[in-house]
Amino acid sequence: MREDILKALGPCGLNCEKCFAHENGEIRKYSLKLIEKLGNFDFYAKRFESLLDNPIFKKYPDFKIMLEYLASENCKGCRKENCKLFKDCGVRNCHQQRKIDFCFQCNDFPCKNTNFDSALDKRWIKLNNRIREIGLEKYYAETKDKPRY
Ligand code: SF4
Ligand code: SF4
Repeated sequence: MREDILKALGPCGLNCEKCFAHENGEIRKYSLKLIEKLGNFDFYAKRFESLLDNPIFKKYPDFKIMLEYLASENCKGCRKENCKLFKDCGVRNCHQQRKIDFCFQCNDFPCKNTNFDSALDKRWIKLNNRIREIGLEKYYAETKDKPRY
């Protein structure tokens, strides 16, 4: 169980398996499924624009580009490789050097090494304090069904 949780949660406390870029994440999985289900909708979007007299269908090409992007990322999670989104994340190497699983276990937490912006910094502190407060298993149970975003 602990190993599964460690696979999912990064040392910052965020859940990599809920990240849109994770290779096995639900966002990627459902994006792939939706692309499959939409089939040749490009053609129908153009038809529906005039047939249904609804300009919303003009937005379909942009929607499709976004959907294809969400289906295309393939990160293995930050315990296996460098974060593909936050390339200057300071946590990953730092927690490895200090041989701890999460930042809350570090004597210097909360530090200035993360390179996070202020919104992420606040979230990082909140998540780590919560893990410390209720324990890893309970924290995982509390958050596993909530969206990351
Ligand atoms: S390491 Fe970064 S890009 Fe990869 S799944 Fe985790 S948050 Fe997403
Ligand atoms: S120094 Fe900061 S980033 Fe590094 S492990 Fe400690 S709390 Fe995390």
